[in-house]
Amino acid sequence: MGSKMKAAQISKAGGEWELVERNIPEPKPGQVRVKVEACGICHSDVLIKDGIWPGLQYPRVPGHEVAGRIDAAGDNVTTWKVGQRVGVGWHGGHDFVCEQCRRGDFAMCVNRKITGLDFDGGYQEYMIAPVSAIAAIPDDVPAEEAGPFMCAGVTVYNALRNSGARPGQVVAVHGIGGLGHLGIQYAHRMGFNTVAINRGKDKAELAQKLGAHHYIDATSQDVNAELQKLGGANVILATAPNAKAISPLTEGLAADGVLLVPAAPPEPLTLDVTPLIMRRRSVAGWYSGTARDSQDTMEFSALSGVHPMIEKYPIDRVSEAYEQMLSGKARFRVVLTF
Ligand SMILES: [Zn+2]
Ligand SMILES: [Zn+2]
Repeated sequence: MGSKMKAAQISKAGGEWELVERNIPEPKPGQVRVKVEACGICHSDVLIKDGIWPGLQYPRVPGHEVAGRIDAAGDNVTTWKVGQRVGVGWHGGHDFVCEQCRRGDFAMCVNRKITGLDFDGGYQEYMIAPVSAIAAIPDDVPAEEAGPFMCAGVTVYNALRNSGARPGQVVAVHGIGGLGHLGIQYAHRMGFNTVAINRGKDKAELAQKLGAHHYIDATSQDVNAELQKLGGANVILATAPNAKAISPLTEGLAADGVLLVPAAPPEPLTLDVTPLIMRRRSVAGWYSGTARDSQDTMEFSALSGVHPMIEKYPIDRVSEAYEQMLSGKARFRVVLTF
């Protein structure tokens, strides 16, 4: 093995993609080096590209939908083996000692790290990750599918499985994109009466293929009235980060229903609170999950046949791949390959 590798970095806020040669990094105690095989491009990578994350240090290699193999392990790595297939996701590790960690809620660690923001991520041939950030990839999940499960997948899977919805209840997925197309598949396989909501008829057939029992066209139908015909949604998973589209959805909820928002719109939501009170509804955020949650996501996906739809680009075409993600035209996740 040579001592150099290829990496795609951003060296300043608003900077262009730079393909550079870097030294292959060495893992410290408690860390592994991952030989990257695939890395999904997430909309959150805009935070690095455009420099809209406070305290971000440049140059930075983004990428938090990483799949590869452990290539070297630092001292004190006891349960992971060189050669093992692993993913690294948004959750970039935790400190084990803060009050949240003492209560076992590692995702809420006050000193948690984010892969590709606090340290270099997967847009490179080799990356370093703490063992608290790695998930084992099941044998039958290929690297290019494992990548998207590490952020898009775990976010919607974990949101739905913790939503309180029970089998047979109405779960609506608003938006059919990177998150939404996975959300529909999970909702169906978790046994929910699954509703897909999107603008236009274009994606109606696809939504049904993914597992939606019902499709609502937000351009020609009254979304809330349609949801109420089904008894109201127990959960609406709002995956399209559009405040104007999301805000009115509370009135499509059943009593005790929750509007679950895992992706932040740039604008604040505008909420009429009386309908929330009268039907005891709520609006809640959802934050990703730990590495073990990501592993659960992949295991459930392998077991139940959930697959991300992906478009692959070699790392050399990172700029083009990123533009494709930004354009919203990708169906549905853009993945860099090595
Ligand atoms: Zn992400
Ligand atoms: Zn902590």
